[in-house]
Amino acid sequence: MRDFLFFVESRDRFAVGLFRQFRIEETPSRVLIITPTLEYKRWVLEYIRARLADYGKEIMVKVKGEEKPAGEEVLREGIQEKYQFENFVVGSSNELAYRVCLEVSANPGSYSPLFLYGGVGLGKTHLLHAIGNRATTMGYRAIYRQANEFSEDMIKSLKQGRVEDFRRNFSEVDLLLLDDVQFLSGKERTQIELFRVFESLQRKEKQIVLVSDRHPKEIGDLSERLISRFVSGIIIEIGLDEETKLSIVKNKLILFGLPVDRKYIDYVMENTGYSVREIEGFIKTLKLTGIREDKSTEGTKKEELLLSLVARHFNLKPEDLKRDTKERKVLKAKHIAMYFCKTLLRMSYPEIGRLFGKLDHTSALYATKKVEEKRLGDRKFEYLLQMLEKNLKRSLGLV
Ligand code: ADP
Ligand code: MG
Repeated sequence: MRDFLFFVESRDRFAVGLFRQFRIEETPSRVLIITPTLEYKRWVLEYIRARLADYGKEIMVKVKGEEKPAGEEVLREGIQEKYQFENFVVGSSNELAYRVCLEVSANPGSYSPLFLYGGVGLGKTHLLHAIGNRATTMGYRAIYRQANEFSEDMIKSLKQGRVEDFRRNFSEVDLLLLDDVQFLSGKERTQIELFRVFESLQRKEKQIVLVSDRHPKEIGDLSERLISRFVSGIIIEIGLDEETKLSIVKNKLILFGLPVDRKYIDYVMENTGYSVREIEGFIKTLKLTGIREDKSTEGTKKEELLLSLVARHFNLKPEDLKRDTKERKVLKAKHIAMYFCKTLLRMSYPEIGRLFGKLDHTSALYATKKVEEKRLGDRKFEYLLQMLEKNLKRSLGLV
């Protein structure tokens, strides 16, 4: 086994780090690589296996679970296999969350309730599923639900007069993994039902893990007694710092079969914000387009650059933002771009109007105001703008 890893290292010194996390079973004639997720299996098959062909043994790749005969079924609902602890990159800003989640999956009930919160794309959902995956392989019963699915299930069972079944279903698990609980805000009846389930699970010392984009006290329109239950356990904020981002970027470059050299690393680091989801999207695109040698940047006016950056964030082309449209997604991007032309580049409304396809200045004014207002009332939107603003400032050389 040591020989095989040594061989992998000689072929691809980056891949060996990931290989160390795989289970490897070697016989005189073949090597069986068992990967934690399908994503890794594909990666080994697509990028690595060919380079290992001259090891002289048949190389087989299976995803965990595939190699086992089907055993007794454990209760497992809503849990996605692709999110595992093994493919979660750990750094200082998510280490605590990672460690506690690991503990909770091995010993459900040890820290209950556990409440994780943080901005979008930081791996909260990933960790919830990882808990579910690990716990169910150890025979624990687990359910994963988005809070609004929980709510929909509840309403459906109410209508069908099956609310008892609903309660029982959720109260008979070892782990309840509830995602995006900020969506419980204002849903009174759902809150009442969740409270019941909560009490019943806590009584039995079962594990509850809750995830939200903000601290329980900031969710709003949430009953006092639910808030007090949410804050009664451990609350951990999850973030993303520069160093962790760097490890993630390297890891994802390897995973997508791209070179892990300074040029690629810097390119991704500079063009993405603090969201792993954004990093993944960016690297996927990079895989298709390659690095754009943007020599034209210096000649390009700042406003054109801003336009193309905002467009790229929304997976659009810069020209899309200049055309007349009623498509919501395009309009949203367009309004945001106009807003930043005003706030970051201090362009006048007539100038903005001209830039976005010969609009008059009142349209530019209207768009900018609309974004300003939405920013005040909508936290998710505010977070998006903060992130964009940070990226734009950096790319436009405004910091
Ligand atoms: P959140 O729920 O916090 O908005 P997700 O868990 O959905 O974020 O993560 C977004 C994407 O980024 C997912 O594909 C996830 O696998 C990936 N991801 C997030 N954090 C990490 C990490 N630390 N290591 C590896 N992948 C990560
Ligand atoms: Mg999520």
